[in-house]
Amino acid sequence: MTDAAALPGQPRGGVLSGPATARAVNVLAPNASAMTLDGTNTWILSEPDSARAVVIDPGPLDEGHLRNVVDTAERAGRRVALILLTHGHPDHSEGAARFAELTGTKVRALDPELRLGDEGLAGGDVVTVDGLELRVVPAPGHTADSLAFHLPADGAVLTGDTVLGRGTTVVAHPDGRLGDYLDTLRRLRSLTVDDGVHTILPGHGPVLEDAQGAVEYYLAHRAHRLAQVETAVENGHHSPSDVVAHVYADVDRSLWPAAELSVRAQLEYLREHGLI
Ligand SMILES: [Zn+2]
Repeated sequence: MTDAAALPGQPRGGVLSGPATARAVNVLAPNASAMTLDGTNTWILSEPDSARAVVIDPGPLDEGHLRNVVDTAERAGRRVALILLTHGHPDHSEGAARFAELTGTKVRALDPELRLGDEGLAGGDVVTVDGLELRVVPAPGHTADSLAFHLPADGAVLTGDTVLGRGTTVVAHPDGRLGDYLDTLRRLRSLTVDDGVHTILPGHGPVLEDAQGAVEYYLAHRAHRLAQVETAVENGHHSPSDVVAHVYADVDRSLWPAAELSVRAQLEYLREHGLI
């Protein structure tokens, strides 16, 4: 299980494909699955009337999709000038090198192995292209290399797999860690409370227009699951697969392997905090 990351549990949001905000257009990749929902969202971002665009998460290595992203930008009069990655899972990053080739651009990511070109990317960076401003937000938890991108001009944040448009995400233990993930959710909540973010542009699933509500839901969901896992352990269910069978009984069995990663992350968190 290397792909991201959806477990059921949240109502649907809005836009799935096409323009989502004044500066963001989604091109949906044709890789729908239980884990990737409708497919990977490849985001084209640009300042209105500017000549250059940023692409976040080219998605899987699918020539038709990658060309569709280039064409969509060009039809709007824009040339792709930079590629950014939210994290290294293949459903987001696998097509990045080919897309860089098609567009003659660089790839920036937190993980040095995913970069093409000389520039890194880390929380706190500010990326600007033709007046478009993106503030890079550290977002470890789903994976260690996850980043989010705050687009202040649109009151939006691009969350990759940290917050999805539907369902909840997997904390991909051992790379992903629950303590980090909860800190990341609190960081995103603070963007919604203090910095005017109202829209989530997720890595999969529809756009969410109630960013704060979505993040609060994720925090409440994590707390609820954590309490369930703690209770399961107290009742004598110690192996991760046994805990999954009890705590995720409401989730389709095809998602249990993914749920087990989250359970492992939760068990580690409970142990580290002396709770089990
Ligand atoms: Zn992922």
